[in-house]
Amino acid sequence: MIKGSCLCGKVKFQISGEPYSLSYCHCSRCRKAAGVFSAVLIGKADDLLITEGQAEIAKFSPGAEWKLERCFCKTCGTSLGDMATGDIYVIAASALDDDLTIRPTVHIHTESKPNWYEIVDDLKKFEGDYVADK
Ligand SMILES: [Zn+2]
Ligand SMILES: [Zn+2]
Repeated sequence: MIKGSCLCGKVKFQISGEPYSLSYCHCSRCRKAAGVFSAVLIGKADDLLITEGQAEIAKFSPGAEWKLERCFCKTCGTSLGDMATGDIYVIAASALDDDLTIRPTVHIHTESKPNWYEIVDDLKKFEGDYVADK
């Protein structure tokens, strides 16, 4: 069980089961929400449970063409990721309180990263999206 929460503590969630992947996402939404990029944990939607503060989660959709909604705490603004979207959850790993055994394996949406940020590790890079098969 992996537990997570927002900074003010109103929103709490837990993840059961093994996540599919941990990725560094460089998309423009993560850049605006998280600084430069987000570490995003992706797994099976049914494994995510919001245990407290469901009503405290605000959602922002960048537009009708986006399937995902950016979730954040109404009170403290902590970025929570896209949370449950269809078959998968996409959680901002920065909101997790527990350590992970899984390690980042890929950079995604690298075409959106700012030119002043250089990726200096040897992980695989994808210009667009990538979700590990499970
Ligand atoms: Zn909060
Ligand atoms: Zn992103």
